[in-house]
Amino acid sequence: MSVIPGQGDIPRIFNSASGRLEPSATGEVASLYVCGITPYDATHLGHAATYLAFDLLVRAWRDAGITVRYAQGLTDVDDPLLERATITGQDWRALATSQTQLYRTDMAALRVIPPDFYRGVIETIPHIVAGVERLLDSGYAYRVPVEDAPPGTLGDVYADLSADPAFASQTRLDPFAADRLFAERGGDPDRPGKRGRLDPLLWRAERPGEPSWDGRTLGRGRPGWHIECAVITADQLDLPVDVQGGGSDLAFPHHEMSTSHLRALSGVERPARLTMHTGMLSFGGQKMSKSLGNLVFVNQMLERGVNPSAIRLALIGHHYREDWEWTGQELVKAEARLVKWREVIGSVKPHPSSAGAIAKIRAALANDLDTPTAIAAVDEWVGQDQGGRPDRTTYAGADLRRAIDALLGVKLY
Ligand code: ZN
Repeated sequence: MSVIPGQGDIPRIFNSASGRLEPSATGEVASLYVCGITPYDATHLGHAATYLAFDLLVRAWRDAGITVRYAQGLTDVDDPLLERATITGQDWRALATSQTQLYRTDMAALRVIPPDFYRGVIETIPHIVAGVERLLDSGYAYRVPVEDAPPGTLGDVYADLSADPAFASQTRLDPFAADRLFAERGGDPDRPGKRGRLDPLLWRAERPGEPSWDGRTLGRGRPGWHIECAVITADQLDLPVDVQGGGSDLAFPHHEMSTSHLRALSGVERPARLTMHTGMLSFGGQKMSKSLGNLVFVNQMLERGVNPSAIRLALIGHHYREDWEWTGQELVKAEARLVKWREVIGSVKPHPSSAGAIAKIRAALANDLDTPTAIAAVDEWVGQDQGGRPDRTTYAGADLRRAIDALLGVKLY
């Protein structure tokens, strides 16, 4: 990270579990777990906006002198991935590997600082198996027979949410809304044999034609989605983590369920101090999503020659919690802004001091990562009479350029 004078404050972040702004870190080390992608398609702008939001948090933490521990999970085996591989006739492993690589390339182009710990589900399966075995022993999990399974099949394993009195404390949804979202987002409320409609899958017994792994006492199979993130979090970070993050569509059931699993595995009542959720990007009137197919891909924009700093500036032009619609106009504006910033900030002539502008950027970011206000502070400085009050000794333009680089991740040279 570039060196800029001074130090930022620890950002206060909107904790979606409490509905309040709270300090994002409490000590010299801050930890962050963000759900990664399911690698079956290229990174779209909705993904990029999410990972940029957490990148801003990481950058603000570093600027405040905090040591960051950032872990990200990768859902490298999941139903949508297997379905896509079947449709396209590809090997699902090859599809996952190629799309994971593309995601990393896209993130690097957007100057997203990589997580310290990046773990896939497949490499974590032995730990997931051990975790589910413990949950069965403790009474938090139970087996559900599989219909038409051969004799001797052990069945699937589900979590008994009634064993966790703190379940749903992050989202506090009414039962009707919870049931609807669970069904919409990968859940199986009507599965016969479950104790509760919302009980989520922990281990799926082997089915013909599906990949499976050695599950020891669970039998061959593969993990459920929420337990994957729970085990990766516990493996990589100390509990409680400071921030658990992802898109707002992960708040329920995914984050609520994985938090419940973490609580059951660790005994830590609140495994995440804060939950941070990013808004949804829409395109053509609907949420940008793989299932709807209304996607704008980062790699296609880069191939067209779009400047990655302009993509970044366009996406952070909206506050991370906002739901907004991508029209393409944001990119036009961002490209124009970038040209202007480069022209003024990069010029060698004497500038007025940029200390005030840098302080405003830092204050905006410390206030729930308020990027629109931070960008406005740069615009304001750029719009000043650059001929007046020259400050030849502080290299004001260079300082501001470094601040924009370090704090906003936007490269001006
Ligand atoms: Zn997750």
